Amino acid sequence: MKYSELAKYLVEAPLYQPKQLEVAFGKTTELVEHQGFLVEEEPEIPVPEEVERYCTICRSATNWRWDGVPGSAEVIELGLKWIPYRCRNCGKESFSVWIRVWLSEGKVFVEKVGQYPKLGIALPADFEEALGASRGLYIKGMTSRHAGYGIGALAYFRRIIDDTIADMLGVLEAAMVEADANADAIETVRRARAGKVFDEKVKLAAEAIPPNLKPGGMNPFADLYDLYSIGLHGLSDEECGEIVDAMDEAMKYIYTELKSRTEGAARYKDAATKIHQTVAKLRSRK
Ligand SMILES: [Zn+2]
Repeated sequence: MKYSELAKYLVEAPLYQPKQLEVAFGKTTELVEHQGFLVEEEPEIPVPEEVERYCTICRSATNWRWDGVPGSAEVIELGLKWIPYRCRNCGKESFSVWIRVWLSEGKVFVEKVGQYPKLGIALPADFEEALGASRGLYIKGMTSRHAGYGIGALAYFRRIIDDTIADMLGVLEAAMVEADANADAIETVRRARAGKVFDEKVKLAAEAIPPNLKPGGMNPFADLYDLYSIGLHGLSDEECGEIVDAMDEAMKYIYTELKSRTEGAARYKDAATKIHQTVAKLRSRK
């Protein structure tokens, strides 16, 4: 893990999942003179000053600033360390994480060993509604992920994707219709929805998405296809946990961004019709 990934690790990683941290120390472990004695000076890693996290008061993802006593502990030393943060937006909500830091064969390792409030399961209302009957599987999957059981979590997530893929393809089809996509491409997605073989369905859909529904070239269906095809074999809990996080992002994108885009466009179409009627009515009074 690079130092730049430490902030995300502090906020999102499950407990007890040690990571080697690639850092260049400000200082290295060496003997230095201290008050007339030679003592071992320990390496120091700066505490990430800001992390991004969901705030339950602000009800959105906000920036959180390190909230320790200034001058006392802006560095992470070897051993067990408490790191407090406070939401910069509301200034009320706080969050603490405890990490253990040690050296092994000249390398630095960090391990999150505590977090308060505990890792929660973020279920935005529209996402929860879209999951429908799969909500229970999602909670079980995320609970496993938070406990560090990535292999178990991945099994739940593969099941959720199996159960909801037709729905997700429905969201895609609606978005394509709304965006006036090519009729052949829409037909391809329709056929994919009716298909029986999971791999083929998702692959077809991934290929049919028009560029204007791929912000920044992002293709959530191609991502889901790739993630799903990796399978469980030979992977560690940690690797499976990473696949779960990526699947979660792709599903949330489909069920929230893609869906709300379509709904937003449909709402605006209704509104625009009324606007045009009003304009026409007022013009006719002249
Ligand atoms: Zn806040």
